Amino acid sequence: MAEDAGAILTIDLDALVANWRYLATHTTARQAAAVVKADAYGLGAAQVVPALVVAGCRLFFVAHLAEALAIRPLLPDGAQVAVLNGLMPSAEPACAAANVLPVLNSPDQARRWQAHAQALGRPLPAMLQLDIGMARLGLSLDQAGAMAADSAFAQMVPLQAVLGHLACADDPADPANAAQLAAFRAGAVLFPGVPRSLANSAASLNDARFHGDILRPGLALYGAQPVTDARHPIRPVISLQARVIQTRDVIDGTGAGYGLTWRADGPRRLATLAVGYADGWPRSLSERGAAWWNGHDLPIAGRVSMDSTIIDITALPLEALRAGDLVELIGPHRPIEQVAAQAGTIAYEILTGLGHRYTRRYLPLAVPNPQEIAA
Ligand SMILES: *Cc1c(COP(=O)(O)O)cnc(C)c1O
Repeated sequence: MAEDAGAILTIDLDALVANWRYLATHTTARQAAAVVKADAYGLGAAQVVPALVVAGCRLFFVAHLAEALAIRPLLPDGAQVAVLNGLMPSAEPACAAANVLPVLNSPDQARRWQAHAQALGRPLPAMLQLDIGMARLGLSLDQAGAMAADSAFAQMVPLQAVLGHLACADDPADPANAAQLAAFRAGAVLFPGVPRSLANSAASLNDARFHGDILRPGLALYGAQPVTDARHPIRPVISLQARVIQTRDVIDGTGAGYGLTWRADGPRRLATLAVGYADGWPRSLSERGAAWWNGHDLPIAGRVSMDSTIIDITALPLEALRAGDLVELIGPHRPIEQVAAQAGTIAYEILTGLGHRYTRRYLPLAVPNPQEIAA
């Protein structure tokens, strides 16, 4: 099957688990959760979640209720999944029936969850998010104060965590971080005894003041550096190889690709790869990105097409690269952060855009887990 694949996406579950373990052990927080929204950032929640469960992760965050319902059957007893985008109108029964934790982001969501608990005649746990200065999701300090003062709410909705989110964690020097931390503390103190969760990947790798009780990393688990200009000991998780479909020699002045935006400045050799923007290989890499093969960076020539990308292989010895060979698009020589920068975007977008046409290879956990041996 892989022999005729246009491109092969390799996902190293052992590296992913190592990244989670690193975060879970290098922290003052009691617990490291895992953010597995958007199909585990494009890597496949069906494979990623069980690997993290084996590693000991017991709390997962997704964005949508549908994502929570999809991973619920993969979770062992006692493990939980929370929905960051909150409680959509009339989603209460499905959320409660599946034992999913909504992250309550507004007084209206909190009231609807409370009313549903009352209707069922049993408490329904949830998390509560504070808007600590990002104007995206969560309750204002005043709104949080009103909820905290309401004992009927506290009785019917036991809070498992109070959440905040940082807007500038990727830049530890940004003064917004300290301001947001102060705002978070001012809100969280209204809910004594409730675990606090503030840190995404970047904040989890930085200053422990942001760690609180529960870390909430996503990106770093998937092997991308979350802090601009810093290298933390995070192992790369994905690599992407693309197949050469054909090669050709072109004469001086030959145009390549849609719009003929690229022109040969002398005799050139080109190779066409079986990967394009329909695979999530960004069109913005047109004439900016490169592939790597056998010690050479091979620049993209012309526009990235839907299903193919042309690279300039003139630098290689004649006949070195042939149809059927694989070149590296993301991997040790083409780090995802660099690919994202060349595409004018962030690693998050490269990961979550990873296409479903790729042949996917999952490298299993390298070391058998003691739990597995006992089982
Ligand atoms: C996506 C998300 C995270 C994870 O962020 P990373 O930067 O990927 O670690 C954490 N918290 C919230 C609220 C999120 O939306």
